[in-house]
Amino acid sequence: MDDRDTVIERARIVYMDSGVTNNITEALRLYLRDVAGPDEQVPLFISSPEQHQMREVLKFGRPECDFCKAEMFFRICAVDQHGTTHATAWVCKNCGYEFYSDMTPKQWLKVLRGADRK
Ligand SMILES: [Zn+2]
Repeated sequence: MDDRDTVIERARIVYMDSGVTNNITEALRLYLRDVAGPDEQVPLFISSPEQHQMREVLKFGRPECDFCKAEMFFRICAVDQHGTTHATAWVCKNCGYEFYSDMTPKQWLKVLRGADRK
């Protein structure tokens, strides 16, 4: 198994130096999906309980932006324009629309699992 930092560096070279993305997490996600060999399958996130829950939330898929229909990104501990920190947020990187929530990833999971069961 290759070191996670080594794999991140490769992802950075492939996807960030070429201008595909300027987000290292996104670069690593693309690298793991499209390029990485069996020895390079490092975790996308170093797991804290919150990040693990965040990943679980994203398994349900990303919501579409109300305005431009782009996929929204999930954030934890998001700060709004007034400087208030919210537990989570859905952010549209296309048009900049941001939806803040004081639900934790754990609470989102509860809601999403509930919705899934319908
Ligand atoms: Zn949007």
